[in-house]
Amino acid sequence: MKSHLRWLALILLVVLPAVWGCAGTSAIIPAVSIAATGATKTVKASREISDSEEYYVGRAVAARILGQYPLYQNAKVTEYVNEVGQTVARKSARPNTFKGYHFAVLDTTELNAFACPGGTIFITRGLVETCANEDELAAVLAHEVSHVANKDGINSISKARWTEVFTAMGTEAARQYGGVAGNLVTLFEGSIDDVFKTLVVNGYSRTAEEAADAGAVTTLTRTGYDPGALAAMLKKMLAKEKGAAGGIYKTHPPTGERLAKVKAEGGKEAAPSPAEANRTKRFDKVVKS
Ligand SMILES: [Zn+2]
Repeated sequence: MKSHLRWLALILLVVLPAVWGCAGTSAIIPAVSIAATGATKTVKASREISDSEEYYVGRAVAARILGQYPLYQNAKVTEYVNEVGQTVARKSARPNTFKGYHFAVLDTTELNAFACPGGTIFITRGLVETCANEDELAAVLAHEVSHVANKDGINSISKARWTEVFTAMGTEAARQYGGVAGNLVTLFEGSIDDVFKTLVVNGYSRTAEEAADAGAVTTLTRTGYDPGALAAMLKKMLAKEKGAAGGIYKTHPPTGERLAKVKAEGGKEAAPSPAEANRTKRFDKVVKS
């Protein structure tokens, strides 16, 4: 519990720079010296990141994304995206996270989606509006949920970075000064930087993308959505790819190979079922009205 609170304090310091900027400086000691003086009392530095730590990192990453894009102020669309998102999350490979899944829409015409560690998922208004129906929206959200389930975000933090953080946090000095040690905050911020850069700038590896596609096809099938909706979405993006730059084209490059794999995994497009037609009506009512 104590370490939990320490994390919370660190996150608050990272998220609220004005507060930590005002913290007294007398207790701030360099992290390097913390690590050196307390080296014999470190926790196991290379342990797995816990679910609660993942959540706090994800929350800080989400705050940073919200610093770049405003939230779409449309309660109807936000609620609908959440309903569809929660439906696929429940049938995903990881239905439960520390604080559950949360879905939000970013107010930009850019096409993109971000899966923050722990389950906060952002989709842009542009991407929602690019979906032709609910099943395609479910496909995008199921792909992002798969990134959370596969822990792709949290795994983008370099091992060296975590080892540094754990080492510094596990020392006596950190226990005593953890709340105000400016250099600890800096170390921790590096981990958030790693995740943010992967989500917003560089994107995941091709392997991670293909695994998220495979996870999405399985989830869509389990949920009763058309698993072919992911292929339809990828096809649409491929068609738009020429001349498109940035956004999802940078972080989630659609490729013919990706599309072929999705189709082979059972995500073939088929004629819409009566249930799908009803879902499309619901989608049109919320998104296109
Ligand atoms: Zn992806």
